[in-house]
This record gives sequence, structure tokens and C-alpha cells, in this order.
Amino acid sequence: MKIPKTLTTYCPKCKTHREFTITLYKAGKRRGSKLGERRQAERKKGYGGQKFPLQHNQAKTTKKQSLKLSCKECNYMMQRKGIRLKKAEVV
Ligand SMILES: [Zn+2]
Repeated sequence: MKIPKTLTTYCPKCKTHREFTITLYKAGKRRGSKLGERRQAERKKGYGGQKFPLQHNQAKTTKKQSLKLSCKECNYMMQRKGIRLKKAEVV
């Protein structure tokens, strides 16, 4: 699906309609030094380490892709609800 680069919608910070630039949300880089990662590493240590079942058979064939909007005036960032798409493209 092709998504336009800009969109006009309500900005809660400016309190009026403003033009927003659209980018696709991407998960951040995983860092081994962060608390959650350290905690999980500690849980997995030793005999019988895996603490919850890993999912192997995925029913879904697509991933939800959410849009990241940022206001051109005040740089306020917000996200749109994810929609299931095979391929999202910002044009
Ligand atoms: Zn704004």
C-alpha cells in the first residue's frame, strides 16, 4: 500500500489542524546492556533456562505497521494505529 508523505490532521500541541510528515515506525535497536535484556539473560541461565514457550507456528502472514506522524510546526510526534499490510510504502 502506498502512503502519502504528508497528511493534515489535528495537532494536540498546536490545538489546530497542521501538516504532518509520515514515516513508518521501526523498532529500536536491541542493546544487551539494558535492564530487560540483562534480566532475561539471567532468567535463561542454567539448566531449563527458557521460562516461557516460544511461538513456532505463526498464524498471521503479515505484520502490523504503524505510522509515525510528526508536526511540521512544533515537531509533536504521534502514532497511528497499526494496520495489517504485506508492504507499506511512503511515497
Ligand atoms: Zn503542532
